[in-house]
Amino acid sequence: MVGIVLVSHSYRIAVGAAELAREMGGPDVRLETAGGLDTPDHAIGTDAVLVMAAIERAWSDDGVLVLMDLGSAVLSAEMALDLLPEERRAGVVLCEAPFVEGAVAAAVTAKLGASLDDVAREARGGLAGKVAHLGMDVEDETASEVVVDEGSSTATITVGNPHGLHARPAARFVQTASAFDARVDVRNLTNGRGPANAASLNAIAILGATEGHQLEISASGPQAAEVVAALSSLAERNFDEHPSSGPPATSMPVADTGAETVGMADGVLRGHPASPGIAIGPIAHFHVPTIDVPEGRADDADAELRALDDALEATAIAVAAQRSAIVVRAGAQEAEIFDAHLLFLRDEAVLVPARTAIRDDHATAAQAWRAAIGNTAAAWDDLDDPYLRARAADLRSIGDQVLAHIVGVELSAPRLTTEGVLVAADLTPADTAHLDPDMTLGIATAHGGPTSHAAVLARSLGIPAIVGVGPAILALVEGTTVVLDGDDGSVLVEPDPDTTARIGTERGRRLTLLREMKVRAGEPAMTTDGTPIEVAANVGRPDEVGPAVAAGADGVGLFRTEFLFMDRTTMPDEDEQTEAYRAAAEALAGRPLLLRTLDAGADKPIPYLEQPVESNPFLGVRGVRLGLARPELLRTQLRAVLRVAQDHPVRVMFPMVATTDELDGAMASLEGARDDLNSTATLETGVMVEVPSAALIASALAAKVDFLSIGTNDLTQYTLAADRGNEHVAGLSDALHPAVLRLIRTTVEGANTHGRWVGVCGELAGDPTATALLLGLGVRELSMSAPAIAVVKHAVRDVDLTSAEAIASRVLAVASASQVREILVQA
Ligand code: PEP
Ligand code: MG
Repeated sequence: MVGIVLVSHSYRIAVGAAELAREMGGPDVRLETAGGLDTPDHAIGTDAVLVMAAIERAWSDDGVLVLMDLGSAVLSAEMALDLLPEERRAGVVLCEAPFVEGAVAAAVTAKLGASLDDVAREARGGLAGKVAHLGMDVEDETASEVVVDEGSSTATITVGNPHGLHARPAARFVQTASAFDARVDVRNLTNGRGPANAASLNAIAILGATEGHQLEISASGPQAAEVVAALSSLAERNFDEHPSSGPPATSMPVADTGAETVGMADGVLRGHPASPGIAIGPIAHFHVPTIDVPEGRADDADAELRALDDALEATAIAVAAQRSAIVVRAGAQEAEIFDAHLLFLRDEAVLVPARTAIRDDHATAAQAWRAAIGNTAAAWDDLDDPYLRARAADLRSIGDQVLAHIVGVELSAPRLTTEGVLVAADLTPADTAHLDPDMTLGIATAHGGPTSHAAVLARSLGIPAIVGVGPAILALVEGTTVVLDGDDGSVLVEPDPDTTARIGTERGRRLTLLREMKVRAGEPAMTTDGTPIEVAANVGRPDEVGPAVAAGADGVGLFRTEFLFMDRTTMPDEDEQTEAYRAAAEALAGRPLLLRTLDAGADKPIPYLEQPVESNPFLGVRGVRLGLARPELLRTQLRAVLRVAQDHPVRVMFPMVATTDELDGAMASLEGARDDLNSTATLETGVMVEVPSAALIASALAAKVDFLSIGTNDLTQYTLAADRGNEHVAGLSDALHPAVLRLIRTTVEGANTHGRWVGVCGELAGDPTATALLLGLGVRELSMSAPAIAVVKHAVRDVDLTSAEAIASRVLAVASASQVREILVQA
């Protein structure tokens, strides 16, 4: 049976239309929907990745018919087609039929076992009943549909956007024009440029349309009148541009890249502190290194054309994935820039000259593409408006991504070749993991929160970092000198020489202090009254253990094993895992190794695990839930853990436990793994407390295990309902909020009833200002990024437990994080 996919901007419309179609076609029609965006509230919009997933779900060897509502639904469906495996594309028809009537007609016809062509034809005729009923001539209507270029229509619109038709509004223009069966040309009446084909983003942008310019739209074809009406209405809506979008008005050395004024005042940009320390140096934007394109003529034009198409497809997949990630993290408006990037990849103004050079001039795909991008970007460079001119950078950046695919260069890892402060929109954990701490003086990102994994990694590398500064940081000119303060979250732009000297001295003072603390970092830390506190390291790979021990770690208090599963295409098997855990244990030379079982999902996706798309992955199948849903995965890992525990002091703990049933399931899996191996290994077991429910039932959990370790990153996220990776709520996501501190206290009390120890392995453990408080609350183990160990051990040695307990009772009585901070400062 032919499958049917309904693509709508609105989740509800898609689901409603599907319900109606099923009502007519029957419950077993293969009908799938892709409505709205992949956000918890299904915000209005369309997403190529969702459409592709819906097509895959509806897949049938008889083919799939896709019906779309308006505008970008069509574009997303086209992109989805590009994302599908090549062999499937021929089996999909994107059908221009009316959405609701077409869905009903298609469902009824598909149910009868009709072919894809027949289902499509019936869907196209879906309006016939309504037309006949309302007394119109059905045959004439149908006849006019096939006459191209018959009608024509023109209109003049005025550009009202303060920054003209830059990438986002131009993309909306092209998307809207492309949704109709009409050829649209545009002429800029104000500066005489044009005509430009409205199907080309580059052609539209090169019209140089700035605020107040008048554009003449001429359309021909069956839907000429409709497309002109739609474009006029789009112009009246200022191309759906949000009033806050656009470049900054600032006298700072800012490149015109569309940044907003977020976080900028008096030459200082503000973000969220993510990794302590001061960095002074020139900024270096994370961008692609120069790609060498080999000289020489190509012999096989078809092979070169295929190479170009493959690279375009691979880049489209990567951009679509980035788009989806940004929609979830920063919202649909921020993600629209990716629509422009996707349009560049199919823009005739670039593709036609590139293909012609391959076919007619024996150019290689790389040479042809580089020349086509270069020429088009040069045309952007010639525009009068600086803001539009700067869009050339977007084109070059996407062009480089394609070029990298063609020549087979890896672009994912940002690298600085001279010392500098790395600036990026955001960094993935993998990007951050590849940074060279000797060259990377500091990191500043436009997006992300302080407990995002990129921030966690920056801390582990000891690189000062600030996240969530906003797009203004991206607008700074390459090489601009900045002072980045990872403690207070500020970036001072182009400081005067006096300020630079003063901050340089302060930096030197802090470094000297740190050196002094490092001298004693290898010794155990005790409070003034002699209570030993274990200060351990958080690691993600075995090769981080040696440096952690050298930094003074008493052991590993959190091995995030999911990092072993990332950056690869297949799962590490039992032997490979055993080898990795054994290497970590050996590097610890008798110190304890605490392995956390796989914590995948949400912000740590592992592509090959093929988890279903979830509307709210942070509340979905992640952590131990994944291990229980995929028992073989957990049991294999636990066998590897037990094999190492046979010879080394090993602890194991389960992430994201919310109920005693989950813990029972995980412990049963451990017993199963023991049985598999006939293992007698001794092993301490524990639970991560990172969900409020776990803190509240700590006593019941503690009865079943040896220790509890508090993940303050997630515990804060779930307690305050603030996504840890979303810079817009980073202010809320504060582990020093009394609500979180009370849950820590509740956890300790629960554990104490069974004589169990409690540790903290979230980022709060590495904050020396919180050390006394955590010990006063009853925490006895702290695990953190290795660079923080020396500082925290120093802080532990200063703690008198009786006064720490007094501090703890005071903070438990207040109601806000700022009051907690006041108490800590006074103490
Ligand atoms: C936490 O949530 O605090 C934690 C340590 O786990 P992760 O940061 O890996 O989610
Ligand atoms: Mg966690």
